[in-house]
Parts: sequence; C-alpha cells; structure tokens
Amino acid sequence: MMIDASAKLSGFCRDCLSGQPEGRRRCGACGSPRLVYHKELARLTLAHVDCDAFYAAVEKRDNPALADKPVIIGGGKRGVVSTCCYIARIHGVRSAMPMFKALEACPQAVVIRPDMEKYARVGREVRAMMQALTPLVQPISIDEAFLELAGTERLHREPPALVLARFARRVETEIGITISVGLSYCKFLAKVASDMQKPRGYTVIGQEEALAFLAPKPVTIIWGVGKAFAATLERDGIHTVGHLQAMEETELMRRYGVIGQRLARLSRGVDDRVVHLNEAAKSISAETTFFDDISSHDMLVTHLRALSEKVAWRAKKADVAGHTVVLKLKTADFKIRTRNRRLDGPTQLADRIFRTGLSMLEKETDGTRYRLIGIGISDLGDAALADPPDLVDAQATRRAAAEAAMDKLRSKFGKATVETGYTFAPKRPQE
Ligand SMILES: [Mg+2]
Repeated sequence: MMIDASAKLSGFCRDCLSGQPEGRRRCGACGSPRLVYHKELARLTLAHVDCDAFYAAVEKRDNPALADKPVIIGGGKRGVVSTCCYIARIHGVRSAMPMFKALEACPQAVVIRPDMEKYARVGREVRAMMQALTPLVQPISIDEAFLELAGTERLHREPPALVLARFARRVETEIGITISVGLSYCKFLAKVASDMQKPRGYTVIGQEEALAFLAPKPVTIIWGVGKAFAATLERDGIHTVGHLQAMEETELMRRYGVIGQRLARLSRGVDDRVVHLNEAAKSISAETTFFDDISSHDMLVTHLRALSEKVAWRAKKADVAGHTVVLKLKTADFKIRTRNRRLDGPTQLADRIFRTGLSMLEKETDGTRYRLIGIGISDLGDAALADPPDLVDAQATRRAAAEAAMDKLRSKFGKATVETGYTFAPKRPQE
C-alpha cells in the first residue's frame, strides 16, 4: 500500500490485509469476517503484543495430537497451573490455580511439565520478529512487549496498524502460535486492548473513545489497583473508572497520595509513559569496605544480604537481569578474590543473588580477614526471561512473591522503608 493511501486507512481485513471501506461485515476480497475498523487507525502507533496461552500454544504446536485437548502447563499434583490453553479455560481452569483444583475442574486435562528453555527460545524468535518491525521494542515478559511504531511508515510503506496485522499473520505461519494485539495511543490502553479479544485478538482503542470506554470499567482495570486497593475505593463509594473520572486530581491525591495522581490520569486515559529500550549496562554490583577487617561469617552474610538487595533494586529499576552472580572479596592484605556462578536463568531477585553469593561465600569464610565484600550480576539481558515462577521449588516462588510485594512498597514509600528481616541467614542453604 502507498503511504498517502494509508493516510486514509479506516479499515482492513486481518486475513488478506486488504483495505476495507466502512460498513462491511465481510472482506470484499477474501470473505473473512475478521475486519478492523477505527477512525484513528492511520494515526495510532503504540502497541502491546501478547502471545496467547504461550506455553500451552508452544506445546500444542509441537504435538498436534494435543490440538483439541485441554492442556495445562504446570508442576505436578502439588504445583500450580502456569499456563492453560483456551479449551482448559472453558472448563474453569485458570493460571496460578493449584493443580489439584485444576484437575478437579478438568480431569481429562493433559498436564505437561514446563520446558522453560524451549519457551525462552520461541520467545526470542517472536522478539526478533518484533525487532524487525521497529527498534523500539520493550519486552515485559517472555511473551509480551510494547512496540512503538511511530516513524516506521517509510520503512514499511504502510501504517503501523497494518504492519501489526501482518506481523500477527507471520507469527502464526512462521512460528506456529497466535498473538493478540492492542493498538492505542498510550501504554495503559494498548495493554488493556490486547487483553480484550484473546485469542487472536486485535483491538484498537483511540483517543476519542478513551473516556467513554473506560467509564463503566471496574477500577481494577487501572494498572496498580489490586483487590485490596479496590476494596478501599469501594468503601469510599468508587466502583467504576467513571467515578474516578468525576473526581478532581487534587482530591484523589489528598485521599490516596501519589497513587491518587495515577488514578486521576489513567482513569482519563492520560498516560505519558513511553516505550523505552531496556538498558544495556554490562554488570551491576555493589560493595562495602569495612571500617575494621571482618572474618566473622555472620557479619559477612549480613553485609552480603544488604548488598544483594541493593543490586536487585538497581537491576529492577533498569529492567535488566543477570545470568551470572559474582562475589568479590578483598583480604586484609589486599588480595582480591572473585567467584562467579552462572545460573540456569537470569535473575533480578535479591533472594537469588544473595543465596548464590552465600553459597560461594561459604567456601571463603575460613578465618581469613576481609576488608571488602561485593556482590554483583553480569551477563545482563532484559528482564523478560528472568525468574519464572519456580514450579519445582514452591518456597522460592513464595520468596519471590514476597520480594515483589516489598518492591511495591518500596516504590511507593521509598527504598529505606522496608526491611526484609533477613539478617539471620540460614547457615548452609541448599543451592
Ligand atoms: Mg501471554
């Protein structure tokens, strides 16, 4: 399609990608009912792309016998559902559901243990295809990302709306899984949109209808509003986004603090966050030089814990994760010891950094006096593939969830507010 023709684009067919005049129910060229119409189609450039039931879709792709069966990806009877296919969802199975409950709801389900390496590989393939569309790809997890396509019309010779539909088609034919696309003018609504017509969805939310679209929605649609906060709002008589729209920003801030501002803005479809690349640092580390040399195992562990927190915090801020944990020690006579351990996947969790560091430290606390300890992560990549829920070790998953909860508090009230209470480290953790 020519660039100037695209300026008038108001509708197209998602199957054959031909332009469609307003009002058709089926494609004039191929007969498909999968048409997209929107007044702002030629203008919108920000997308959220999310793979549909990703792990399950990959397994179905690799084993056609599973095509019509309910499939659950998860960790055995005592584990939880990691992903389930849409057939399993019809039976009431949901992500994060305990496996025994899922099997009660859907006894005929085929349960498959997750193959994270395979999913990561497929995730990277999808990512590479995204990066061919635009350099501005911001991965959110292994199977979803924000894409900013402004300024790519010259390259693609068609507007972003069509580029995305073509992309969805290519992912299906070349990778063998399906995706859902949300197209909008801001991150918040692009993400909301991609979730609306899953699977194989393509949803557009424009500037013009944003207010009316949001008004009847529950407050939990707003990023950062979970069940607990929704209950607070409920008590204050705020049930829908429309109620928030009717309130002044100053009033919301007076009542709820910083998050009040977010409520005011997002409820009106105002979201200035831009799509950014995840930072490309080489490593992140933190170290402490002691006032007096230390040989005590427990004291070194205490420092190690605090430094691990620091490193994790910075990694999360930069949206990166490290594949290798590096422990650094300097002896009283200025000899430097560094120890590395490569993990089976990248991490940005303080808990994992600390435990890995600790297992290396154990071998170094032999009475030697140290003047410095440092911990860091290297082999940095984006955080998309970091720390998937550990289906084998439920404890690690629980610790990760606790850490995420504390991060939330930290970003709300400041870094110093939350103490982990992990000053008393176990003496010999299993690594
Ligand atoms: Mg997904």
